[in-house]
Amino acid sequence: MAPPLPSSLPLELLERYGHSPLGCTLSASDLVGDNAFSDAQYREVLTDLRQRPEEQLAVYAHVPFCHVRCLYCACDTTVTHSLEKVDRYLDALECEMAMATDLIGRGRKISQLHVGGGTPNHLNEPQLARLMEIVERHFTIAPNACTSIECNPRRSSAGQLELLYGLGFRRISFGVQDLNADVQRAIGRVQSLSMVRDVFQTARETGFQSINLDLVYGLPFQTPAGFRSTLDQILDLSPDRVACFSYSHNPSARPHQHAINADHLPSSAEKLALFHEAVHAFTDAGYRWVGLDVFVRETDELADAQTEGRLHRNAIGYTTMPAKQVLAFGPSAIGEIGGALVQNESDLKSWHNHLDLRQFPVAWGHRLNDAERRRREAVLYLMCNLQLPASTAVDLKQDYDRLCDKAGYGLVEVSSDGIRVTPEGRYLLRGLCAEQDAFLDWGSCQWRFRLPT
Ligand code: SF4
Repeated sequence: MAPPLPSSLPLELLERYGHSPLGCTLSASDLVGDNAFSDAQYREVLTDLRQRPEEQLAVYAHVPFCHVRCLYCACDTTVTHSLEKVDRYLDALECEMAMATDLIGRGRKISQLHVGGGTPNHLNEPQLARLMEIVERHFTIAPNACTSIECNPRRSSAGQLELLYGLGFRRISFGVQDLNADVQRAIGRVQSLSMVRDVFQTARETGFQSINLDLVYGLPFQTPAGFRSTLDQILDLSPDRVACFSYSHNPSARPHQHAINADHLPSSAEKLALFHEAVHAFTDAGYRWVGLDVFVRETDELADAQTEGRLHRNAIGYTTMPAKQVLAFGPSAIGEIGGALVQNESDLKSWHNHLDLRQFPVAWGHRLNDAERRRREAVLYLMCNLQLPASTAVDLKQDYDRLCDKAGYGLVEVSSDGIRVTPEGRYLLRGLCAEQDAFLDWGSCQWRFRLPT
């Protein structure tokens, strides 16, 4: 049963929380900043990691290509139809992994591998096989590792899905966004239910252990009734997981979004109603609401992990594996190693230029100090476990008190044990967490380390 929407929230707070960016999700397009973190500092961080061979590692590889640009897109990607461009990218990716593993040690075991984009399955079959060869030449994928890939259903074929399974991927994620024809036309991404259903069923028959579908709310022309129809069609497919993301309209940062008419976008209150519709649909159908915006079957490992307080979140997403060290490769990829957040150059050419010179393509990075680390751990804990122990107040008094203030709006409950997010407060958990994020200046709603453009 879906919790009710918070009823006593001032519009100003709703607007603010409804549009909150969030550093903890490590959205590549939102995080830009401190360029004082150099190639040399990144080398230091990687060299330190060599001293800790027992540390669990995760690897993220970003594939920065798509066949067309969707108008709502917030990812770092390039539209290309050039095989040579992709081959050159794979050459550079190999170089980047070789440079990193020269420092941390070749063949380190990884417990999580995620290939995202862009559109990873825009690569042709030999290129996909080469991508995995590159990973396996530099790392050892643990037998029980979580191996996942993002795919565009419009680019998926039975042969390609078989290949991906044969390469070792066991989790697959397809972008659906919305199945309403008006919404799809407005966002420049038309894909029929029958095509999505065919691809989904083929992935099931291929043997993938977990199939995730991505939805987006807050898109032009979305209405609760129309979105409910999409949700029902999605439920008919019975996915293992559904991620329901909030659309963030920011055409000044992403000029292609100018093609979306802002007059057709839902208001903050309407967006909240759309998300409420999703919570309603999935929880009524027996899915568990995990973290901010993910719904999983009761039998999913994330559901148990949340119940037992074992749920983690790293730079890749929610996980049951406590792999805190995320090595990230490819343009715009964001990693977290040895207490440092590091993002690669987003621009494909700049990324190549650095690697041609055998430099790490670091655009920015930041070594968290103790206070920032405690704050970040608290935010992640809140996001995963929907509570903060009272002991946090000792180190993070200001943040703790700010969260306590939200009790007046019914978003949290405060007791001697700590703070617990209320069922109503879950709808605004993103905003609550973002408010505590050390990298966000709420006055200007800008990332603190934003570079002059
Ligand atoms: S497929 Fe994904 S990454 Fe590519 S343009 Fe569309 S939304 Fe962006």
